[in-house]
Amino acid sequence: MPDHQLIVVGGGLAGLRAAIEAQEEGVDVAILSQVHPGRSHSGAAQGGVNAALANNPDGHDDSPEKHAFDTIKGSDYLADQPAALQMTTDAVPAIYQMEHWGCPFSRYDDGRISQRPFGGAGYPRTCYGADKTGHYLLHTLVEQTYRRQIRQYIEWFVCRLIVDDGICRGVIAYNMTKGGFEEFRAEGVIMATGGAGRTFAKTTNSMISTGGGAAMAYHAGVPLKDMEFVQFHPTGLYTTHILMTEGCRGEGGYLLNKDGERFMARYAPKAMELAPRDITARSIQTEIIEGRGIDGKDYVYLDLRHLGAEKLADRLPGTRDLAIHFEGVDPVYEPIPIAPAQHYSMGGIDTDVDGRTLMPGLYAAGECGCVTVHGANRLGGNSLLETIVFGRRAGAAAARDILGRERPLGPVKSGGEAGAAVESTIAELAAREGSEDFYAIREEMREAMFAHFGLFRDEATMKAGVDILLDLKQRLKKAKLRYTGSVWNLDMIRTMEFEGMVDVALATASGALVRTESRGSHARTDYTARDDERWLRHTLAYYQPDGGPPRLEYEPVELGLYEPQERKY
Ligand SMILES: Cc1cc2nc3c(=O)[nH]c(=O)nc-3n(C[C@H](O)[C@H](O)[C@H](O)COP(=O)(O)OP(=O)(O)OC[C@H]3O[C@@H](n4cnc5c(N)ncnc54)[C@H](O)[C@@H]3O)c2cc1C
Repeated sequence: MPDHQLIVVGGGLAGLRAAIEAQEEGVDVAILSQVHPGRSHSGAAQGGVNAALANNPDGHDDSPEKHAFDTIKGSDYLADQPAALQMTTDAVPAIYQMEHWGCPFSRYDDGRISQRPFGGAGYPRTCYGADKTGHYLLHTLVEQTYRRQIRQYIEWFVCRLIVDDGICRGVIAYNMTKGGFEEFRAEGVIMATGGAGRTFAKTTNSMISTGGGAAMAYHAGVPLKDMEFVQFHPTGLYTTHILMTEGCRGEGGYLLNKDGERFMARYAPKAMELAPRDITARSIQTEIIEGRGIDGKDYVYLDLRHLGAEKLADRLPGTRDLAIHFEGVDPVYEPIPIAPAQHYSMGGIDTDVDGRTLMPGLYAAGECGCVTVHGANRLGGNSLLETIVFGRRAGAAAARDILGRERPLGPVKSGGEAGAAVESTIAELAAREGSEDFYAIREEMREAMFAHFGLFRDEATMKAGVDILLDLKQRLKKAKLRYTGSVWNLDMIRTMEFEGMVDVALATASGALVRTESRGSHARTDYTARDDERWLRHTLAYYQPDGGPPRLEYEPVELGLYEPQERKY
């Protein structure tokens, strides 16, 4: 029964950065991850990470304040403004820290870190390592955790929080390689479990981005914030939805419809292909709906041919490989078929700027959390930034809280009963007389989310979507485990996590249905205008154990720096 002062759930960028910071502050910290940290979704990030370093000659007078302004405008004014400024101010030292730890950023001839333009940004401020930025950042941090000999429990699947007297005191995890459940006791837990992209069909997210960590916090009574804001990336590969990075457009790529027209001129005449993602994705979808997709089909072209083979080899080599291997198209010679795909969860576990949640002892950082700096629409390059900035802050805060406690918390009450309870739940799942196919239910949910809560939303479609989700929850009760072996039981993992996924999906759906306005990624055809009077506020969804939709509460957005304006690009 392993005991540590602090448990970090997740070995992506946010979790690793949090663990490093907590250990530097002097606490005994361990990381639990269902995959090797180097295989976390962070490693798939391509385009880059934002910081106002002002290295690019076109961005020499960039500043954290300008970065904050772009972030807040990009968020359609739903970001908490002091939090956004905190992130953009911490960004500069955060990038230099990664550089000092050896991250191989692309560089200018004078040795400074290169910066490329990205959507919605007034200055070229996206630092990158070719188109493998996430991979480079992630492996830099993996090395740092090895160097510090931070304890890592790899291929352990966390399935519940241990909560004693309202304080989070650890987790229960399934040992994937050996079988069995264990209680990990601690004085604090940081959730860094990534996004919930897999609740949708057509997503750029990896298999493990299921929102499981958010669901555990939610089931334990912690609210999820702003879940209705879901980012659809403009350029997923048409057949597999694999991401073609925004860096393609940052380097000068065009979007073309069936007539060969750069249609963004109609929607964002100044920013063109570098408008923010919500606007660009909707523009593509509008072209498709109005019959200007390629050959009348539901995709358009991302054209990189004019950039030339040399530039593609230097700046976008991985993107070219992905297009060749997964779409059969070589971008040096042919335009790439693309369509919008689910990409990012703006919402998540409600936290402050130090990762603290409503529950003492429970923290969150990275994509599973909601600080909130992205508001209704995240700018490209701000998410990698969020992981290293708020990962660090959460690690520091958890360590300070643990070391600063006047009285020790005392032993954890559960003497194995919490773990035993999970085991008996599993036994029940295995013994059920099941008539439903669990995997079919899961696919139905993902399709329903994309169809009913996609790029354009309206009341009737969303109401029908909520009904589908509630029905799926009922049907889930009749699904049983197919495989009952103790080792590597992925069937059990998928079943356990699905109960969380469907609740996370319902939080998204319920928040979206009630919000009668259009803001950022939440675009309604029946309420097309932003309504600051009624809706300049955050949604908080509280889980209802009776199986119904969540209870929704609202809280004001923290303003103070920039007055909300109309968003034009
Ligand atoms: C294809 C793609 C490209 C992207 N490109 C960019 C980009 O260029 N710039 C940018 O800013 N953002 C980008 N993003 C977004 C960004 O990469 C992510 O938001 C960010 O990396 C998330 O990091 P994280 O640490 O929060 O979670 P992740 O990296 O997703 O890590 C989650 C971790 O949690 C663990 N975990 C989850 N559940 C459990 C459980 N139940 N038990 C145990 N362990 C668990 C996993 O094993 C994993 O280690 C991209 C995203 C995608 C999908």
